[in-house]
Amino acid sequence: MPPAVGIFFAAAFGAVVGSFLNVCIYRLPRGTSIVWPASACPHCGRGLAWFENVPLLSYGVLRGRCRTCSGVISMRYPTVEALTAAMFALGWWYYGPGTLLAARLLFGCALIVLFAIDLEHQLLPNAITLPGIIVGFLFSLVVEPGWMASLIGVVVGGGVLYLIAEGYYRLRHEEGLGMGDVKMLAMIGAFLGWKLTLVALMFASVSGSIIGIGLIVARRGSMNHALPFGTFLAIGAAVSATLGQQVLIWYLNLW
Ligand SMILES: [Zn+2]
Repeated sequence: MPPAVGIFFAAAFGAVVGSFLNVCIYRLPRGTSIVWPASACPHCGRGLAWFENVPLLSYGVLRGRCRTCSGVISMRYPTVEALTAAMFALGWWYYGPGTLLAARLLFGCALIVLFAIDLEHQLLPNAITLPGIIVGFLFSLVVEPGWMASLIGVVVGGGVLYLIAEGYYRLRHEEGLGMGDVKMLAMIGAFLGWKLTLVALMFASVSGSIIGIGLIVARRGSMNHALPFGTFLAIGAAVSATLGQQVLIWYLNLW
């Protein structure tokens, strides 16, 4: 089988998975079941026909609007589907089929869902983070970073952020970081191990600071208008999972 064929099928499968991630992103914060009922238009409630539910293609065919009520379909749907398709294609090409690929793709899917939900609702559902900690640890029994690094990752990831959250609360008497962030970083620790988790935290803080300062300069936010940190943790973890090892080597060579 030529490599391009494998990458094509990985992308197609990724688009279908992305479609399911959209269901999770919409329903988890609303507390409804992710398996029942079938997808419907969020504006008029009409159930979707199969041809309105084809990942990526339907959005283009429908020109981003419901056929019945002309309600606008969120750009989030094709964006998440395209992002997931790209992630599966790149993952297949980079890792090749195997357990590590499965671990990284599952991790990536969790990050996409957490990113989107935190951005919109300032919420990181336990339904993703808590099973994520367990699944990440189980994968570490057979692939990198190994169970010991994974276990330390859970403790360090959760612990460091817990201390920061507690310290911030005592200093300013308001909540800067939530327990959702703590559980999310513990999940990142389980999948990546403690070293790459610290790299992820660094990337998240730097990107969060740059965008936060940018918003303040543009007078679109204030110090008290907290940006959802989970969104930045997702970006940091994705960067760390792909480039973290190189960053660590570069950083350690500075000393
Ligand atoms: Zn509609």
